[in-house]
Amino acid sequence: MRIINPATDQLLRELEDDEISTVREKFARAKAAQRGWAATPLEQRLSLLRRFRELVISRGAALAEVLTAEVGKPIRQAQNELNGLLGRIDFFLEHVPAELADEQVLDASGIEERIAHEPLGVIANVSAWNYPYFVGANVFVPALLTGNAVLYKPSEFATLTGLEISAALHEAGVPKDVFIPVVGGGSVGALLLEEPVDGVFFTGSASTGRKIASAVAARLIRLQLELGGKDPAYVSDDVDVEAAAAGVADGAFYNAGQSCCAVERIYVHAAIWDAFVERFGAEVRGFVLGDPRDENTYIGPLTRRRAQLELLEDQVRDALSKGARLLTGGKRADRAGYFFEPTVLVDVDHTMDVMREESFGPIIGLMKVAGDEQAVELMNDTQYGLTAAVYSKQRDRAERVLRQLDVGSAYWNCCDRVSPRLPWSGRRSSGVGCTLSTYGIEAFLRPKAWHLRQP
Ligand code: NAD
Repeated sequence: MRIINPATDQLLRELEDDEISTVREKFARAKAAQRGWAATPLEQRLSLLRRFRELVISRGAALAEVLTAEVGKPIRQAQNELNGLLGRIDFFLEHVPAELADEQVLDASGIEERIAHEPLGVIANVSAWNYPYFVGANVFVPALLTGNAVLYKPSEFATLTGLEISAALHEAGVPKDVFIPVVGGGSVGALLLEEPVDGVFFTGSASTGRKIASAVAARLIRLQLELGGKDPAYVSDDVDVEAAAAGVADGAFYNAGQSCCAVERIYVHAAIWDAFVERFGAEVRGFVLGDPRDENTYIGPLTRRRAQLELLEDQVRDALSKGARLLTGGKRADRAGYFFEPTVLVDVDHTMDVMREESFGPIIGLMKVAGDEQAVELMNDTQYGLTAAVYSKQRDRAERVLRQLDVGSAYWNCCDRVSPRLPWSGRRSSGVGCTLSTYGIEAFLRPKAWHLRQP
């Protein structure tokens, strides 16, 4: 595997991919180790993950540099991700003990009923590159704390980060057979899924998610899919235009738009259309594109390199040919590496790919709507259902709109936001199951029902 820096197109490192024999051997090691890990006192598992958290802090600067080099994430955003990771770990450290505790639900007339919570066993985690610490930790932290062994395949675009995570977990004391990285691209991911794992936890695109669901369907194991989106934001007529434009622009362009919950479509009330478009354009023109190692850079390169540049060019071409207008951007940036100018299209509609297909890049379409009813109709006109945002001064008005949307997360006057305390889930093509919150701990457990009669 060749690891390429997307900002320079230069080779960072070459690594050996796993192959069928090494994947098998890794599965066998994890299988042999899992029961012992589950039998380890919870306090010990908690303390090892606390040590991992300490290592993330002490080597934060170096980890951010690796992330920036291989994914192209601007250095400040890489640091933000590492800081955000700490809160997620804290949530799990605090809440796993209660989720694991036995529950006595009846103790009467000589019979006791009790619910115990057992780990799934060996789980496969096939992960994405865009927030490798977040999407990785959403799975491996609760999985390990609840007593599962984890075979972790980082994305081929974030392998060095995956290996850093693995090294830090092992250094913290998590046994090497309990957390095992698997290196390679999609074909290695497919090999991993052929092993008799007890659960599959996937983060990635809807198309790969469908392949994975088909590959494991006959095995009847726990399957969780965190997939893509085409997340809408509706800006109503009663907002502070400047604040709303700044908030929505950040939600659309942070991490160069490569966030699962990035704002990907914007509907603007006709009454404020002109003012909003002007302010939004100014905001986006102010974004600094450049070397991701530079602290001032806001827009870095596209991690998926040429394939993603071509997808964005196609979306621009398609939109313009159907009558859209370019407010700013629209092409590759004139520099080495894989950069695309922050791009705003106006006068778009739902015949255009930019309003229907996940863009996953620094591009956004703005569409004028007559009011809340049309906004609801258009926001629901999608195969996806990850998040949706409404900007309005009136909370009940926003909640009325958001209640009608088939999405896993609803945002009022905010967007592109994830909280460890809340369930993270997609509907329809955005996924199955959920991570984070107490639901995201239960995902790694199976209940055992105890019926105990005194002799
Ligand atoms: P991807 O689907 O291309 O790859 C994801 C992972 O699947 C990689 O590790 C890849 O090697 C592996 N893979 C590919 N084909 C496989 C196969 N046939 N069998 C097994 N494994 C296979 O996605 P990506 O480009 O890494 O990530 C971007 C996508 O992830 C976007 O669609 C984004 O919206 C989504 N995403 C969703 C969330 C969420 O929480 N809902 C979070 C982050 C990213």
